[in-house]
Amino acid sequence: MEIKKVAVIGGGTMGNGIAHVFAQNDYPTVLVDVDDAALSRARGTIEKNLGRQVKKEKMTQAEADAALARIDFTTEVSKVKDCSLVVEAVFERKDVKLGIYEKVVPMLAKDAILASNTSSISITELGAATGIADRFIGMHFFNPVPMMRLVEVIRGYHTSDATTETVMALAKALGKSPVEVNDFPGFVSNRVLMPMINEAIYCLMEDVATVEGIDEVMKLGMAHPMGPLTLADFIGLDVCLDIMNVLYTELGDPKYRPCPLLKKMVAAGDLGRKSGRGFYDYRKDA
Ligand code: NAD
Repeated sequence: MEIKKVAVIGGGTMGNGIAHVFAQNDYPTVLVDVDDAALSRARGTIEKNLGRQVKKEKMTQAEADAALARIDFTTEVSKVKDCSLVVEAVFERKDVKLGIYEKVVPMLAKDAILASNTSSISITELGAATGIADRFIGMHFFNPVPMMRLVEVIRGYHTSDATTETVMALAKALGKSPVEVNDFPGFVSNRVLMPMINEAIYCLMEDVATVEGIDEVMKLGMAHPMGPLTLADFIGLDVCLDIMNVLYTELGDPKYRPCPLLKKMVAAGDLGRKSGRGFYDYRKDA
C-alpha cells in the first residue's frame, strides 16, 4: 500500500522529530497535540532542528521552509481521516493511548495503518484494544529522530504481513534502517539496553568502580560511544526504572529486578539531565 499523507499524534520529544522526518521526505504531515502551546513548542523545535541541518549544509533554506510548510499543526484530531498512516507518540501511558485510539479508529479509512511509538507497552495488547489489530503496528523511532537511523518495527500477534511490509518500506523511504521484531516486553532495544544500564548501576552501588570508571570501561573496552551511566542520564532515570519494571513484571524473571540505587535516585528526584542531576551533575551547565 502506498502511504500518501501521514498524521502524528503528540508533538513532544518524539512526535516533533517524527513529523520533521516525514515532512523532510515530502510527506504531507498533520501534527496533532492537545493545545496551541504544545503545538507552538513543537513548531519551534522543528524549525530550530531544520535550521541546524541547513547550517550543516544537509539541506537548503528553501528545502527547510518547504518541509515546515508541509506540516499542518493542529488540535483537530479529525484531520486524521484522510491519512493513510497515523503514528501515535503521546505519553507512555496505556490509558492515554487507548483514549486516543477510541477517537481515531472510527475516523480512519478502512485500509489506513495505526502505529504506536511506544517504548515498552505491548503492541499485541494495544492492537487488540483498537479492533484493527491487523493494521496496528509498533514503529519505534529513536531520539533524536532526525539523526538516528534505527526504527524498530514491531509486529503484534495479529499484525498482518501487508501492514508490516508497508511500514518497513516506508521507514526505508524515510532514509531509516528498519529492523523487524516480534512483540515481547522491551522489544530488542530496551530488552538488551536496560539490563545493561541496570547492571552498571549495580556496579556503582556495590562500589566496583566510580561513575566515571564504569563509563570509561564501557567506552574504551566495548567501543560504546557513551558510557551506560551517561546514557541513563540522557534517557531519564524515571524512564529507565519504568522500563525495568515492565521487563520485571512481564517476563517474571528476577534478573530484571530494578537496582535499589536506581529506585532511590528516582525517589530523590535525581532523574538525570532533565532534573539537573543524575549520575553526573548538570546544574553548572545551566
Ligand atoms: P513527551 O512527553 O515529550 O510528548 C508527549 C506529547 O503528547 C506532549 O506534547 C503532549 O501534549 C501530547 N499529548 C498528550 N495527550 C495527548 C492527546 N490526547 N492528544 C494529542 N497529544 C497528546 O513524550 P515523548 O518522550 O515524545 O514520548 C512519546 C512516546 O514515544 C512514548 O510512548 C515514549 O515511550 C516513546 N518513546 C520515547 C523516546 C524518548 O527518548 N523520549 C524514545 C522512543 C520512544
